[in-house]
Amino acid sequence: MTPVSASIGATVLGYPRIGPQRELKRALEDHWAGRITQDELHRVAADLRARTWRRLLDLGLDSVPSNTFSLYDQTLDAAALVGAVPERFATLGLDETATYFAMARGATAVAPLEMTKWFDTNYHYLVPEIGPQTTFRLAGDKPIAEYREARDQGIDTRPVLLGPATLLLLSKPSDDAPAGFRPIDRLDELVEIYVDLLGALAEAGASWVQLDEPAYVGDRSADEIAALRRAYDRLGGLTNRPKIFVASYFGDLGPALPALASAPVEALGVDLVAGSGATSLVDVAGLSEKTLVAGVVDGRNIWRSDLDAALAQLEQVRAVADDVAVSTSCSLLHVPYDVDGETKLDRRLKSWLAFAEQKVAEVATLARGLREGRGSITAALESTRAALADRAAAPGVVDERVRTRLGRVTSAELQRGDYATRRESQQAVLGLPPLPTTTIGSFPQTSDIRAARAAFTNGRIDEDEYTARMRAEIERVIRLQERLGLDVLVHGEPERNDMVQYFAEHFDGFAVTTNGWVQSYGSRCVRPPILFGDVSRPAPVTVDWATYAQSLTDRPVKGMLTGPVTILAWSFVRDDQPLGDTARQVALAIRDETVDLEQAGIRIIQVDEPALRELLPLRSADHDAYLTWSVDAFRLATSGVADSTQIHTHLCYSEFGDVVAAIDGLGADVTSIEAARSRMEILPDVAASGFARGIGPGVYDIHSPRVPDTDEIEVLLKAALEAVPADRLWANPDCGLKTRSYEQVEPALTAMVAAVHRVRP
Ligand code: GLN
Ligand code: ZN
Repeated sequence: MTPVSASIGATVLGYPRIGPQRELKRALEDHWAGRITQDELHRVAADLRARTWRRLLDLGLDSVPSNTFSLYDQTLDAAALVGAVPERFATLGLDETATYFAMARGATAVAPLEMTKWFDTNYHYLVPEIGPQTTFRLAGDKPIAEYREARDQGIDTRPVLLGPATLLLLSKPSDDAPAGFRPIDRLDELVEIYVDLLGALAEAGASWVQLDEPAYVGDRSADEIAALRRAYDRLGGLTNRPKIFVASYFGDLGPALPALASAPVEALGVDLVAGSGATSLVDVAGLSEKTLVAGVVDGRNIWRSDLDAALAQLEQVRAVADDVAVSTSCSLLHVPYDVDGETKLDRRLKSWLAFAEQKVAEVATLARGLREGRGSITAALESTRAALADRAAAPGVVDERVRTRLGRVTSAELQRGDYATRRESQQAVLGLPPLPTTTIGSFPQTSDIRAARAAFTNGRIDEDEYTARMRAEIERVIRLQERLGLDVLVHGEPERNDMVQYFAEHFDGFAVTTNGWVQSYGSRCVRPPILFGDVSRPAPVTVDWATYAQSLTDRPVKGMLTGPVTILAWSFVRDDQPLGDTARQVALAIRDETVDLEQAGIRIIQVDEPALRELLPLRSADHDAYLTWSVDAFRLATSGVADSTQIHTHLCYSEFGDVVAAIDGLGADVTSIEAARSRMEILPDVAASGFARGIGPGVYDIHSPRVPDTDEIEVLLKAALEAVPADRLWANPDCGLKTRSYEQVEPALTAMVAAVHRVRP
């Protein structure tokens, strides 16, 4: 057994869990399809956990986290652990694991929990439902069992739990809760379950526990901060407990920092990458007596750390606290496993990168440098200095043509004609019925499509053969949509592996990885491209596919592009210039594409910005600056076309209160919004804001395999018609049909069209 370290030393806040070769993804999908049993799934999971703990230890960490593994989502784990299982799942009579998956994915006639983005990342968590009736109890033993499991392998780990305050702040009131009920009001009761949990962990032998409270890097009221303090006074006051490490990430703790610094906990974790740095820690009462876990290695991006700068920060932190531990800024969940897995990546670019494994090594190196002096890590310091210098001077990082062109953009280039005029000229061209039906762009990615793409990538089929297969698919999708009776068609995006990666592969300034997978939700992974240099579009990207699709039908086919903000949000972006500057470069590349699509006869162009809300800064004081550059980037991307060309946009997720003005500012003619899983809760916000252009709230949830029926969609459409008149309302599913099968999509769209016919005026 490894010695129990008195201090935290070198650590990470969390680690990827999907598996270096996506082993968990495969096992989950096999299990859901009935190909492997629950026991087999749990064996794959245990194996991944064991490999992770061992690897983290071997890479030199002093304190290895546990319970960072999850079969689906850590927030769902936390909710299940404290017994927050809504009635509709509890009454299914399923075993623990099956109930858990029902909460994540739904079951026959039972809707799953809502899913939304984890802070400002592209990871999704399941939103617990808490009401006055929720009975909290210690309903499982996952953290304790995983602690024991690691200990049996000789590794004394630090169990990681979602903190009680953040768990409730991330929850939503259950349907039966009275108006005004807030989950956080039940914190004192929930804390008693954590009392039991900490007792059980101490009993099992855990010397440390990590409680994550990232909700406090956002705006929080004085009473929410007081509640946090009460929670840690209670937990810290226990006599039988592990040492408590409260972790924060994704920004500064702000007014919650003094509250935690004076609470009776042993360690506090701060994000020195996203936050304002070590200076925010000076003169905070109580901090000097704690172990400060300094998150100096960026847990969310893939660039090698500037070790000199990180060490300088650590030295500043050491002036503030007696004991300093070195960590990542957040869990490494948000980066891929290992740069060495990238055999096809340009060697020079590769030398600038650090994925999870490399970041763990950086943490260990920094801890050593802090402990033994810079002289002990000279070679590492020199090698990172060389990599940083090489990156700054490399070709493609700065492209003067791009910079010159951007410098010449005028504000007139961000304007289109007024909406009334646009609407009239578009209607003259399109002649659509009220409440037009459409989809958000993709159709199921069948195994045939994937096989064709793989064969093309591996050179087993040539470009002509690949194009022929994709065209056949497009034709199939067009014919299907005509048969279903949809009004505005799409080509189905068969040629796209991913809505961001596809453009990254065709634009200059990006590189793509072969195995750089990051978990998005459950078994879904994404492979974010690396935006390393100035961005431009060497040649048209989508025009041939779109015009082919349009040639097959008289109905309008929507061109389909990804917007600049989303391209940034779902890529690993360069960290050497402001995000707004990078956004404008991407916007110009998209603008070139919209102009070419219009020229080629495409009358509707959708520019997806599903990530607009996701990048919104966590503190409201920072919102305006972000919304200004992000809205401008969208306008730059979409204002190069004539008034008669209809611009659509699509946004995911339902918390629109805070970005409604920005959505208006985008100026799109039609905006589709994901809404089905939250049962149209967004529409009152939209109506109240005075939003006066076309809107298409998603009428069925595609994240779940469940097929909706006509009655159910009719109810949602009627609710939508209460808030938006039929001449501005569109009917569409939520986004992402590509993740479903035709057996699910066809009946669902049939039901949608039938429901529209019932309510269309
Ligand atoms: N056009 C994309 C699709 O339908 C949009 C996906 C998204 O918004 N996430 O797949
Ligand atoms: Zn979406």
